[in-house]
Amino acid sequence: MNCEILAVGTELLLGNTVNTNASNLSLLLAELGVNVFWHTVVGDNPGRLAEAVSIAKGRADLIITTGGLGPTYDDLTKNVLADALGKTLVYHPEEDESIRRWFEKSGRQYTENNRQQAYLPEGCVVFHNDWGTAPGCAFEADGVRVIMLPGPPNECLPMFRHRAAPYLRSLSDETLVSRQIRVFGMGESHVEALFREEMEHMQNPTLATYAKAVDVMLRVTAKAKTEAEAAAMCQPVVDRVVKALGDRVYGVDVENLESAALPLLRKTHRTFAAAESLTGGLIGARFTALPGASEVYRGGAVTYCDEVKAGMLGVPEDVLAENGAVSEPVAAAMAQGVRIAAGADIGLSATGLAGPDGDGVNPVGTVFVGLAAEDGVWVRHLTLGPGRGRNRIRELSASHAFDMLRRYLSGLPVV
Ligand code: ATP
Repeated sequence: MNCEILAVGTELLLGNTVNTNASNLSLLLAELGVNVFWHTVVGDNPGRLAEAVSIAKGRADLIITTGGLGPTYDDLTKNVLADALGKTLVYHPEEDESIRRWFEKSGRQYTENNRQQAYLPEGCVVFHNDWGTAPGCAFEADGVRVIMLPGPPNECLPMFRHRAAPYLRSLSDETLVSRQIRVFGMGESHVEALFREEMEHMQNPTLATYAKAVDVMLRVTAKAKTEAEAAAMCQPVVDRVVKALGDRVYGVDVENLESAALPLLRKTHRTFAAAESLTGGLIGARFTALPGASEVYRGGAVTYCDEVKAGMLGVPEDVLAENGAVSEPVAAAMAQGVRIAAGADIGLSATGLAGPDGDGVNPVGTVFVGLAAEDGVWVRHLTLGPGRGRNRIRELSASHAFDMLRRYLSGLPVV
């Protein structure tokens, strides 16, 4: 099934709102095996929207619209699509009733223009909206299937997951299973080169590589009559890839490095703390985004200037003076210092130059990431280069800290 995502809203064209719906829907559609070949954005203009629909229906099997289902005069998606595809709009009293109840519950006044949200194309499957007011729907006309979803991302995405995705699955007698293998410390081209030949010849299951913000993902996808069958088809490929990449693989079906470290901390009954200089709290922020972080994360210290590194973490002043803040001994002392100050089993640290200015000694992108535990202290010396930019250098430094943590907890060489 080839799909076009048609995002409606002048705010998207003006650049006030980023079209996150298209990117998130594409990711979700890929999991269902639907090819997204076009992303189109059109403003709240009936003529141009009708033109976009006419182009989309000529090339796609499935059109998914987002936005323009609300009660205001510029919410015209339904009317234009119904018109373009020869459908009349039919009133759904049960949806109107539920919209009225939504207003009552949220203590807001129901105004008559809200009634138009309960009009949907004749013969459609109604997608009841539990996350907002405007219902969505799916229907078929002129040989094309149409799904309409509301614009606000906090409605659009759950509506897709809980309404549109089951609808799309029900159209096919095959199930798709995907497994994600996450790799840190190798570039995408390197990973791809290892598997290119194999990937080219694979049809079911398939294997593909994706470069993510700080790491690489390989996705294995299989299609079969049942989920169990598809999962069984994926497994040998997953095993082969994991074996070939060894300890560079930090997890299968995990979201990021920190979520790979969390269960290892739990399993080994260890806690950690972090002393952060160039990362300015990123290690703590990324880790505390995970539910359950409080069981294993004791806390952290953002120690930016030398006096604070010395005062809060006990980094000896002569070590700072002799080596400079961006150095292996300082990273080691920071990790030791925070471990003791926070009463944690493990201390992590990061000190380095995120740029754009250097310190006259080290090039931008020089970073030292430390890990201190009862049985030793390790420091990773990174030369990330100035080209990556400040934010990526900081993100990568935090990722290296989590990579060292998960390696230490797994009994692998830390640096
Ligand atoms: P509402 O009931 O809020 O009117 P709607 O379905 O009519 O819902 P819009 O009015 O088009 O949706 O958009 C509502 C808000 O949702 C926009 O102001 C914008 O912030 C956000 N939004 C709309 N489309 C997108 C999109 N494609 N990506 C990200 N955000 C979006």
